[in-house]
Amino acid sequence: MTEKLTILAALAAFAALFLQVIRLKRSRKEYESQVKAWKLRLELDLKQAKDERDRLLDGLGDAFLIVDSRANILFANSAAQELFRGRALTGRPVREAFLDPRLAEALLLCLETGEPVRSRVVLPQQTSPLGDLETRGNNAWIIDAAQLSDTPDGNPNTRVVIRDVTSEYQLDQIRKDFVANASHELRTPLAIINGYLENLLDDGMIEDTEMAKRFLTVMKKHTDRISRIVEDMLVISRLESGEASAIKIEPFKLRLCVKDVLERLESVVRSQQADVSMHLHDDEITLEGDRFYWTQVLFNLVENALKQNPYKDLKIEVGSSESGDHVLIWVKDSGIGIPSADLPHIFRRFYRVEKHHSQLEVKGTGLGLSIVKRAVEAHHGTISVTSVPGVETKFLMTIPKSPF
Ligand code: ADP
Repeated sequence: MTEKLTILAALAAFAALFLQVIRLKRSRKEYESQVKAWKLRLELDLKQAKDERDRLLDGLGDAFLIVDSRANILFANSAAQELFRGRALTGRPVREAFLDPRLAEALLLCLETGEPVRSRVVLPQQTSPLGDLETRGNNAWIIDAAQLSDTPDGNPNTRVVIRDVTSEYQLDQIRKDFVANASHELRTPLAIINGYLENLLDDGMIEDTEMAKRFLTVMKKHTDRISRIVEDMLVISRLESGEASAIKIEPFKLRLCVKDVLERLESVVRSQQADVSMHLHDDEITLEGDRFYWTQVLFNLVENALKQNPYKDLKIEVGSSESGDHVLIWVKDSGIGIPSADLPHIFRRFYRVEKHHSQLEVKGTGLGLSIVKRAVEAHHGTISVTSVPGVETKFLMTIPKSPF
């Protein structure tokens, strides 16, 4: 009897154990499937967070990289990929990915010191990050590098922002050149005036009225030149100010504008016995824009033709035609022309053809054509020049019929 009871108790214990094992197995399965679900969820959340981060960093507009402590690129946003077009970035050492070591310098300094570094780098066209697509000559970049917060292994990553500041750099350069050139151009007449003044005062030459008169005449010529340079600089600066008020927009007749110019230059035309003619495709053609600037444009171009060719038999033509939505206006002359090597530079401020100015002359300011170009561009037009010396030099302007 006791034996039976013992067997029954053992069977019951075994059954209980069996049930327990089954229960345990079931809950392990449940646990495993739950872990799997958590894992999936975690992966999804991670992916979403990563997508969100990429979207945010892509939206930056500037190239953005994350590099590890050994300067290997871990992440590059779409602007960075665009910038270093065609070159793989992720997984590569920075020194290899950047064409010019100067671009990596700020980042490497940040890695070395752990301090944030911000610097501007100017690169020649050949080593621009844009590679062959760079067409702007010297290009400038701001590199901004800073360590991200510490990682568990104590090797924090570093973020780098690369911003293209080429247009700001080039504008700055133009401004600096302008100031340097303007100072140079003003210094010469000022030194001459000063020299004459010293002579007049020191050597008692002021007593010699004839001599004093000659000196004063030369000084007057040079003060006139200074005034012309300053006036021209003011016109350029007004045109470049970009203010809407710099240009007055009203319709005016091109014929009247040309007539104005020819009247103002009449005495020079007569004394040089030049043959100046007007060939407008339509006598009533009306332009929309600032008549003051258009008069100055045509004046500078016709005056240049006269100035560069002070001999008889010079032919100058001011003409116009139409092409679709544009009006073409030209000034051409049959004079000495512009050597082809000078043509690409002719619209630069203070640029003068060396050959035309072998002696020190008090003639142009070298700003006339810059003013012409700025004024034409302010009317949304373009200007080009072609020249066959001794045959035909032609300045051609193309302006939209309705520029504003
Ligand atoms: P400038 O005040 O010296 O005339 P511009 O900017 O008007 O300055 O012209 C720049 C240079 O271009 C001139 O110095 C001259 O050498 C050359 N140039 C301009 N127009 C003509 C032209 N019609 N024929 C020959 N050379 C010209």
